[in-house]
Amino acid sequence: MSKSFDVELINVQKKFGTNVVVDDFNLQIEQGECVSFLGPSGCGKTTTLNMIAGFLEPDRGDLLIKGKRMNGTPSNKRDLGMVFQTYSLFPHMTIFENVAYGLKLRKVSKAETKRRVDKVLDLVKLPHVAERYPKQLSGGQRQRIAIARALVTEPTLLLLDEPLSNLDAKLREELREEIKRLQRDIGVTTIFVTHDQEEALYMSNRIVVLDHGKVEQIGTPWDNNRPASEFVHTFIGKSNRLTGVVERVLDHTLELKTDTGISLRAVRRNDCFAAGDKVSIYMRPESIALHVEQRHSAATNVAKGTVKLTSFLGAYSECEIDIGQTVLTVRLQSVEQDGWLSPGMHVYTEWKPEDVFVFARKENG
Ligand code: ATP
Repeated sequence: MSKSFDVELINVQKKFGTNVVVDDFNLQIEQGECVSFLGPSGCGKTTTLNMIAGFLEPDRGDLLIKGKRMNGTPSNKRDLGMVFQTYSLFPHMTIFENVAYGLKLRKVSKAETKRRVDKVLDLVKLPHVAERYPKQLSGGQRQRIAIARALVTEPTLLLLDEPLSNLDAKLREELREEIKRLQRDIGVTTIFVTHDQEEALYMSNRIVVLDHGKVEQIGTPWDNNRPASEFVHTFIGKSNRLTGVVERVLDHTLELKTDTGISLRAVRRNDCFAAGDKVSIYMRPESIALHVEQRHSAATNVAKGTVKLTSFLGAYSECEIDIGQTVLTVRLQSVEQDGWLSPGMHVYTEWKPEDVFVFARKENG
């Protein structure tokens, strides 16, 4: 078996009773990568992480760390650092003692322990809290200490299970920046579990998107623009859905007609479609342009509509545009567009073929 990956999951399956919660999971993680497991609640992220951590055993398949099969190996023999959603520091120990705990178990000398604890406290920018107790720290500081504690043993693999979800929005952003910088600087192979797509996009070299225990897509954050399925497209980011049929399949283009009669052209990304197929058609809010007048005579990829609602959201604005039986959400750069749109105004929405995503529609969809 290959030794060139830090982590390999080969056809891993986990059942609880008859319920298959992780199915046929295959993944290879290279040294130094940060890979996120992303998906909605109950999709199997934590169960997969717990199998890698050694808290759960797979029912089928192999799990390798640094090329060695780990099935049946206890968690403390897997050379891991772990950080969970809750801070999980020992309340009766000082920060120094908390961070040093893993080294004490490994019988590391006092001098070496001091050197390593000081180093990781420096890394998480909290060198001055060693003598305090966890309750004397803020939530963000406690989570940084949990990260220091996970890193102090210089593990092969760092497992982070929703480490930011108990923090407020601003702190989440700050800490995710710090974790990313730290992860890239020390180059520790990392798995990051989250249900927050923006966090996954921000943190990861690659993202594993899961749904109902199945891997839907493994790709870089950029692969977000090449979604493998309707689930991936809609889970990662907001999107507008229209329904329609394929009218013609050309070499590089699909010609479509929505059920409300709008003609569209979409870039053809695969060979899945034939004329007459019922499809779901998606466009992201930020890829739709708004104009007061129709800019050219072509009637394709343009829909006339009425502004229903505008919302200012800081870095951008969102508008609801009624295009007849469907309301499109359109995202605009606030600075450029501030003040010129008001409810009741007639506008033209316009988009490019490369910004249209098409998926086969189930009979009742
Ligand atoms: P969340 O984001 O809510 O933590 P998740 O993606 O991490 O969700 P898991 O916790 O891995 O999901 O759970 C996957 C499925 O397995 C869920 O349907 C859950 O109810 C089920 N499950 C998890 N642990 C057990 C268990 N010990 N016994 C029975 N079912 C379980």
